[in-house]
Amino acid sequence: MAGLFQKILIANRGEIALRVQRACREMGIPSVAVHSTADAQAMHVRLADESVCIGPPAARDSYLNVAAILSAATITGADAIHPGYGFLSENAEFADMVEAHGLTFIGPSPAHIRMMGDKIAAKTAMASLGVPLVPGSDGELTSLEEARTVAARVGYPVLIKAAAGGGGRGMKVAFAAEELDEAWSVARAEARAAFGNDAVYLEKYLDRPRHIELQVMADAHGHVVHFGERDCSLQRRHQKLLEEAGSPAITRAQRDALGATVTAALARLGYRNAGTLEFLYQDGQFAFIEMNTRLQVEHPVTEMVCGVDLVREQIRIAAGQALGYGQPDIRFNGHAIECRITAEDPETFMPTPGMVSAFHAPGGLGVRVDSALYSGYKVPPYYDSMIAKLIVHAPTRAEAIARMRRSLAEFAVVGIKTTLPLHQRILEAPEFEAGDYTIHWLERFVGAH
Ligand code: ADP
Repeated sequence: MAGLFQKILIANRGEIALRVQRACREMGIPSVAVHSTADAQAMHVRLADESVCIGPPAARDSYLNVAAILSAATITGADAIHPGYGFLSENAEFADMVEAHGLTFIGPSPAHIRMMGDKIAAKTAMASLGVPLVPGSDGELTSLEEARTVAARVGYPVLIKAAAGGGGRGMKVAFAAEELDEAWSVARAEARAAFGNDAVYLEKYLDRPRHIELQVMADAHGHVVHFGERDCSLQRRHQKLLEEAGSPAITRAQRDALGATVTAALARLGYRNAGTLEFLYQDGQFAFIEMNTRLQVEHPVTEMVCGVDLVREQIRIAAGQALGYGQPDIRFNGHAIECRITAEDPETFMPTPGMVSAFHAPGGLGVRVDSALYSGYKVPPYYDSMIAKLIVHAPTRAEAIARMRRSLAEFAVVGIKTTLPLHQRILEAPEFEAGDYTIHWLERFVGAH
């Protein structure tokens, strides 16, 4: 695969920086790690071909420091940048600047990143392409009165959501008309504080949906395929904790139908590279909520089931290569589950940074651990608390559950508290085993213990 790019700079840290580095190495492409002063001993730096320090611990001064990252690319002779997820991955200005510097941004076009980053624009675009939406306001709400009218039309409960939203922030439910006033002001205030943009819209609040998302990949030659769905309904505070591929709730025919709608829409949009369309699924209906224009944390479950390296595909496509296969070539084999292990107290969810005195990862058939941890590593307090993703793959869902249980039991992270015990409890829950859960199940389960 040499010749695609001279060298790729990986503008991220932790497990995802390692993940991208691994793809580059297998493709014979040298890569550059960047790091903050707090991450000088991090695994993504220790395993790097070369590395550049880009600033002090705070992310805004390092992993979000565009000037430092572009300088690092220039001085190391990198000709492409992979942003991973989080940080600058969905920042259209960054993608623009990368291209203005004559480098390739490994991701979608800045115009598509910008469009999908505005959830109102994203919904408008998807609706015009025939993708079903959650019922709600037709674009931005301009006044509380308008919110009242739309809420009365779609029926309570309703959700006020930030156009610039992300990470579950700027989202408030009103269960009845009396609560709308407060949901309106709180959502707007939160959106203003978190995103500097208080534009909001309204959606019907679904009481028992599943979160089902579709992985897509498009090349620059008009070919679009999908790699099936992931069920990410196990969430706490709108944040995913455990994901599965495929969803225990939908059939092969439903996957094919949704896939056909989505790939046709993205082909018309001229979308390029990896993307994920997120849907809520209830009463047999899919309703689009947003699109992520990047690699997702939970991409490994798709990789295991489809036998594809999604990062490699992103790199090939960014270099201008055609996909080289079509939808009928994509096979779905068995079932995969991912647990996101965080450095958090499993009861209170307070972050628990600190020294990992011993680390032992599970192994064996069908087990994958994506982590940058090692014995003697000090988890810094400055960044996201996810420390490992444990992914298992097996012929059936029941076997995947058995494999996940035994892998969780083997997993040892000594010195700091982690959410491993919580995942063990989830894997033992009868509702989980039955695949019988909605996006609201986990919060009740956590609260009930
Ligand atoms: P963010 O970008 O902040 O993650 P999303 O729009 O992706 O926001 O929504 C995050 C989660 O919030 C969803 O996975 C789902 O659990 C919940 N959610 C979003 N919209 C609705 C809705 N209309 N009804 C019920 N739950 C919703």
